[in-house]
This record gives sequence, C-alpha cells and structure tokens, in this order.
Amino acid sequence: MSKIIAVNAGSSSLKFQLFEMDDEHVITSGVIERIGFEDAIFTIKYDGEKVIKKLEIKDHSQAVELLLDTLIKRNIVASLDEIKAVGHRVVQGGSYYNQSVIIDEQVLAHIDELKKLAPLHNPAHLTGYYAFEKAIPSAGAVAVFDTAFHQTLKPKCYIYPIPYRFYQEHKIRKYGAHGTSHFYVSSRVRDLLGNPEHSKIIVAHLGAGGSLSAVKDGISINTSMGFTPLAGLMMGTRSGDLDPSVIDYMIEQLGMDMKELISILNKESGLLGVSGVSSDFRDVERAAIHGNERAKLAVDIFFRRVIAYIGRYFIALGGVDAIAFTAGIGENSVTSRKEILSLLSEALGIIIDDEANEFGKGERLITKPESKVKVYVIPTNEELVIARDTKRLLAL
Ligand code: AMP
Repeated sequence: MSKIIAVNAGSSSLKFQLFEMDDEHVITSGVIERIGFEDAIFTIKYDGEKVIKKLEIKDHSQAVELLLDTLIKRNIVASLDEIKAVGHRVVQGGSYYNQSVIIDEQVLAHIDELKKLAPLHNPAHLTGYYAFEKAIPSAGAVAVFDTAFHQTLKPKCYIYPIPYRFYQEHKIRKYGAHGTSHFYVSSRVRDLLGNPEHSKIIVAHLGAGGSLSAVKDGISINTSMGFTPLAGLMMGTRSGDLDPSVIDYMIEQLGMDMKELISILNKESGLLGVSGVSSDFRDVERAAIHGNERAKLAVDIFFRRVIAYIGRYFIALGGVDAIAFTAGIGENSVTSRKEILSLLSEALGIIIDDEANEFGKGERLITKPESKVKVYVIPTNEELVIARDTKRLLAL
C-alpha cells in the first residue's frame, strides 16, 4: 500500500487529495481556506461524507498540522508514516523544468528565484513544502510544475516581439500555465482516439482562470497564457490580452499608478469587469438570460475569445482531430459548449450531439459520428497527474 498526498498550496489556501496509489483511488480530499484568518474554513471529504469546520488557522504549518491530525483522529490513516510522499503543485518553473522533479535544495532555490514571475503562488508553494517537511519528515517530495508541459513550445511561439535582450537578460517570454491540466486532458483524448501515432488536439481549459492549448502528437505547441496567467482569454476577473497602449493611456491620461492598474487587470476585469455582476460564470450567465445587456456582452466576448484561439490553433496544427472542454465552465456549462460549438460549426464542420452535451455525465464525446471534428468533455484531474509523477519519480 502506498499513499501519496497531492497538495496545492495557495497564498491563503491549501487543497489536498490523498491517494491510495495501488488502485489510484482518492481516500480523502478537501481544502483549507482563509489561512491566516480567525474564521478559516476546513473542508474534508471522506467515506462519502463532507465535514466543514470554521476555526482560527494562523499559518500553513498550522493548516498542515490540522489536516494530519484529522487524518489520524478520523482513522483515515493509522499513522503518518503511511503517507510515503507529498506531490506539490508549483505554478511557475520557468525554463528550468520541462518535467516534474524530486525536490532538493536546488529546486527550492529555483522556486524561490521564480517568485518574481509568480509572486502570489511560488512563495505559498514553498510555505506548503516546509510545512509538510516538518510534519512528515520521512515523506519524499516532488514538484509538479504548471509550466512544464509548455516547455516544448518553439521560440517562434514563446518569444515576444520586443527587443531580444529582454529575453536574453531577463527571461521575459511566454511560459504558459495550466500545463498539468492540458497534459492530462490531451492524454485522455489521445487514449479515446485510440492512441494514434499522429494527433491534433485543442484543449479548452475554461475555469475561473482559462487557457487553450494546441497539442500535436502529445506535445504542446502553443498556449494562450503568457509571461504570466494574465494573458490570453478573458477570465473571471482577468482581462486577458490587451493593447499595452491602454495601460499607458490609463496612467498618463487618467493618472492611475501601475500597481493599481495591474491589480484592476487581475482582479476587477474579465467577466466581472464587463458585466458588473460577478466573476462567477454561473451568475453572469443567469443575468444574461434575464436580459442584463452587459452580462450578455461579457459572455459574448468570452465566447469570441475562445473561438479566436481555436481558429488560431486549427491553423497552427494544420487541422484538428479533437477539441476538449475542461475545468469549471468547460465541464459544466451546457450552454457555453453549445454556443462555442455553434460559432465553430460552419468553419469546422462540427455537429453537436445535444443529448450527450446536455444530459451526459463526466468524460464523454459530445459530437455526432458525422462531425468532422470530435469534441469531448474531459473532467480534468491535475491531482492524479501530481500523484502519478510523485510515485514514478520516487519509485514507490
Ligand atoms: P474552476 O476555476 O475550474 O473551478 O471553474 C470555476 C468557474 O466554473 C466559475 O466561473 C464557475 O461559475 C464555473 N462553473 C462551475 N459550475 C458551473 C456550471 N454548472 N455552469 C456554468 N459555469 C459553471
């Protein structure tokens, strides 16, 4: 029996899934939110039961202690030694990592160095790592980078057309994100296609953050996020791509400062900014259905941006065998998939299977046999990729 915990430490949260790797089943999963607050929330699911507790949690160490105490108290594990390893999701691995690695001093130094590129995430990952190291010193640790899958991009796709020295001297380039999800989903699609030698797949990861990727023969050739996850699609609160002159105008003509502006682009833009309703797609969709014009506009911009990337990647791949929808919106929003596919149908010859789109559950094909492109819904499973990489690297 080998148990591995997959961990995603954010600045004030810690998500976890504990796997029994013999059959890859999830023993328990949950999240600790609002770490650092008096009213932190601990949610844990096991045996079909969900327990939610509100309590004060000062920091990540205390969060990890609480989690591990709970595992023992509720007999989820008999002893912490049963947890053989911890797999950590790391948002930014820069150009250093094109795959997951066992964490050592050098890896920790790189994650620390790269906090310049991911100021909200990389410091939190380190905090999470040290908290687990202290609590279960016997467990191995692996870092799984969100950028690794996109390290196969060619310079023509990752170099920005600005003076080259900024890339050479400061590593300013496209890195992409959500790589673990794009890897998992495109791998599942390849399996479903019967693992052909050649495949052209577009993955649409549409969640609170969103990105698309073009995957050729299992290799990421382009993706919509950039130097940071602010680029690309319109998202819940992020603007996505924008003419940089807008920034200059807002600073020069409106007297805003850069910090304020970047915060607006990250936290007050996207669906929230345009609709004025919410960053949550469900709320915006509901408001649009009830006649809110700005909500309708927000949803329309979102769809336009998704199809624009699909069009680009269709050309870049030289065609497409399959498109896959994943993440919160991609997996759950029947109307988004229908709308996006109807915008694509004339150009790509897509024929949706309404029954499968609307009433099907989980992983499935949602196009008819005569459709020129197969379209799938694939629930993403980043935690499973993390646990598998951890097991493989530590030879457990
Ligand atoms: P994620 O970041 O993958 O957790 O996705 C979060 C996004 O998915 C939010 O914008 C949610 O509103 C959206 N979402 C979740 N469930 C649904 C649903 N049933 N219909 C539409 N959007 C949904």
